[in-house]
Amino acid sequence: MAEQRTDVIIIGGGMVGLTLAVGLADSGFQVAVVEAREPPSWQPGQASNRVSAVTQASQRILDRLGVWEWIAFRRVSPFEAIRAWDAAGHAGVTFDAADRGEPCLGHIVENTLIQDALREAVARRGGVSLYCPVEVGNLDVTAERVRVRLGDGRRLRGSVLVGADGASSMVRAHAGIGVHGRDYGQRGIVATVTTQKHHGAVARQRFLPEGPLALLPLADGRCSLVWSAATVRADELEAMDEPEFSAALTAASEAVLGQVTASVDRAAFPLRRLHAESYVAPRVALVGDAAHVIHPLAGQGVNLGLLDAAALVDVLHQARERGRDPGGYATLRRYARWRRGDNALMQAAMDGFHWLFSNDDPLRSIVRNVGLGATDRLAPVKAMFIDHAVGQRGDLPSLARWRYM
Ligand SMILES: Cc1cc2nc3c(=O)[nH]c(=O)nc-3n(C[C@H](O)[C@H](O)[C@H](O)COP(=O)(O)OP(=O)(O)OC[C@H]3O[C@@H](n4cnc5c(N)ncnc54)[C@H](O)[C@@H]3O)c2cc1C
Repeated sequence: MAEQRTDVIIIGGGMVGLTLAVGLADSGFQVAVVEAREPPSWQPGQASNRVSAVTQASQRILDRLGVWEWIAFRRVSPFEAIRAWDAAGHAGVTFDAADRGEPCLGHIVENTLIQDALREAVARRGGVSLYCPVEVGNLDVTAERVRVRLGDGRRLRGSVLVGADGASSMVRAHAGIGVHGRDYGQRGIVATVTTQKHHGAVARQRFLPEGPLALLPLADGRCSLVWSAATVRADELEAMDEPEFSAALTAASEAVLGQVTASVDRAAFPLRRLHAESYVAPRVALVGDAAHVIHPLAGQGVNLGLLDAAALVDVLHQARERGRDPGGYATLRRYARWRRGDNALMQAAMDGFHWLFSNDDPLRSIVRNVGLGATDRLAPVKAMFIDHAVGQRGDLPSLARWRYM
């Protein structure tokens, strides 16, 4: 079988890998994406329990790739405010889009919908070949080129290999890149829930000593639950029958939306932090969860991954414009320098939140309540938090900027 020549080979066709593929194709690169699993499709009649809080920066990236309209036409839920409060004490903070003259702070979108939209975009781009479902048989990376043999015998050759293959990245392992990690000792329980009162387009998060509980507004009036709890407690919650779980959930949410009833789609994920020691190796780059996994409490994981993808598009595009080898180590290191610091900062912030909120230490409870109250009253501090939440800060890649250059 003839070897297919391409510029960039991406292993992993999740939300981040596909975003990168479409962005690179729009910059004139030939791209191959290898994905091991056929993903579940979005169901118009049924909300999925896996959702993402998509920031404005991510929305702009998806918009410029021509997929946001496809997504928004089907089902998105804008959230106009974020309300966070501590289980111990009375202080809380509200971030309101109206304070900034914005219609919303972001959108809750089902992951399957983002993925379907990106697949549709890939199908429309001549420059992307999607190999799915197929396993990687063998990776062979030298100083000059990358070769991939697929499980079904097909062969690819390119000048850059990208690991977009998630937390257990085989590309990362193959490149000999180590990881720093930490298990939070928590599991995140997700489900679609019905609440007695309407959510009013507000994303709510209550900080409990065992972990944060988030109720994210959905378009059909229900909420998407992300409940992080210490492993033992999460196991108990998982084992509960529906009425028992619903009662526990109503109590844990302080019945802020009245009685909460959980649907049957409850699932749980172990929560950990992970950071690759390097984002690049000769001819290799890592993006998304292959490079960094963070606590879901601020809903930033995939948003950081989309910024990685957009930054890598910029760096490879500029290298080519200047007549340089896009897979050259100096080029790839530019990408690593750009993204690693930002992502490390977000991870550190999530660790700080976890340390401060996931416990019942009375001293930390005082600090939390004073901090939340002060944040709520101090307009500049609040504005800074909102900028972070909506993905407005930092050195944004072209696809994520207000003005596209
Ligand atoms: C409970 C929970 C809630 C979350 N909520 C949010 C949120 O609100 N907002 C947010 O931004 N983030 C959130 N996240 C994080 C977010 O889900 C991840 O950051 C995101 O899915 C990462 O996308 P990715 O494409 O990098 O990796 P993945 O989604 O892991 O995709 C990797 C892809 O690579 C494929 N693959 C793996 N190995 C191979 C191989 N060897 N060969 C070929 N293909 C391979 C996989 O099949 C998969 O399709 C949440 C996470 C959890 C656990």
